[in-house]
Amino acid sequence: MISVEQALEKILGYVDILNEEERSILDCLGQVLAEDVSSNIDVPPLDNTAMDGYAVLSRDTHGASQQSPRLLRVIDTVAAGSISRLKLEPGTAIRIMTGAAIPKGADSVVRFEDTDEAQRKGSATEIGILVEVEPGRDVRRAGEDIAKGSVVLSRGVIIRPSEVGVLASLGRSIVRVIRRPTIAILATGDELVDINQPLPAGKIYNSNSYSLAALVRRYGGIPKLLGIALDSEDSVVAGLRHGLDADMLITTGGVSAGDYDVVKDVLAKQGEIDFWTVRMKPGKPLAFGMIRGRDPAGGVTNIPHLGLPGNPVSSMVTFELFVRPAILKMMGKKNLTKPTVEAVIEEPIVNTDGRRIFARAVVEKRNGQYFARLTGPQGSGILTSMSLANGLVIVPEDEPGVKKGDVVQVMMLDWNEE
Ligand code: AMP
Ligand code: MG
Repeated sequence: MISVEQALEKILGYVDILNEEERSILDCLGQVLAEDVSSNIDVPPLDNTAMDGYAVLSRDTHGASQQSPRLLRVIDTVAAGSISRLKLEPGTAIRIMTGAAIPKGADSVVRFEDTDEAQRKGSATEIGILVEVEPGRDVRRAGEDIAKGSVVLSRGVIIRPSEVGVLASLGRSIVRVIRRPTIAILATGDELVDINQPLPAGKIYNSNSYSLAALVRRYGGIPKLLGIALDSEDSVVAGLRHGLDADMLITTGGVSAGDYDVVKDVLAKQGEIDFWTVRMKPGKPLAFGMIRGRDPAGGVTNIPHLGLPGNPVSSMVTFELFVRPAILKMMGKKNLTKPTVEAVIEEPIVNTDGRRIFARAVVEKRNGQYFARLTGPQGSGILTSMSLANGLVIVPEDEPGVKKGDVVQVMMLDWNEE
């Protein structure tokens, strides 16, 4: 048996960062930028007002107060998007809305609430200024956000909503990113029936293809469902055939020691096989190999193939531990580890066979401290234990277990956003 770390290191040794592609900015959320993005405009392009008010010459407001307003002649009104054709002369003001360009001759803005506008009826030709303003007050300078010619986003940055916004503010619609991996998923088992079909006696629905496809999507990959293969070498080989253009193949089931566990035989014949068992629970049986595939140019490539266990919980947990980091590495990401927190465990967990346990748990914060309780029965066929959990409590392989009240590491599956 090998450790979780050894298994991960081997898998990551076989996957590489993928090539680059051009994508529209809304389609590349979560992808890694593959170019330095510089700006060929100033953002904002012109000096403009941060407030609704009156553009003035600050000198004209000297000595202004509630008791002694400075009266200025109103010569124009400008909305955002327009530019006043007039030049502001001493003794005049231009009514101006947030975002509108500062008129020539003006050097500051007096907010509506600092004028007597509310007391005047209709559109006034004169306005009383009630405060003194210094030059530059409420003026947003051209280029204060992004200066023309500067590098705004560097290669390697992960595109989040704010990066999408920054790209849009430069007028960019397309950007160069590392492409998303396609992960082909094949379920194996004579007992499996696809969803939307009647369920004959003795059969179960194929849930793994769907939980794993959802995980692929969550972590930024593109799932390709290859359907269900029977427990025969021919059927598994035929099923894999449609996935030979993928960046990674995943099968579920058929890797334990049962009579019909044929995935490892296929792997041994089709490609190179690497290891079988990992010191972890759930998810001990695991197969890894390289399958001969095709690249887009028709050349021969080796595609990493991970044979995950069939049990629904085991397949999801092994995905989190081994497939997720592989996807992230292919996408050019640097941080491959799931966040963990320290929590007080509220019940004991016994470790009987020297494997690292990943127990499904609910983690809650109370008085600044995380607490973890198990979701109930921990059988690797009980998929609702994953659905109830937001984290996996880790019991080290070299410890006999944990006692109630011990501090444990919990790998967080989700952070509550609601
Ligand atoms: P195996 O690893 O093939 O021995 O499967 C272990 C257990 O997981 C068996 O009870 C299978 O019926 C179940 N199982 C295997 N594949 C799936 C699947 N795609 N969806 C739901 N359960 C599965
Ligand atoms: Mg099976």
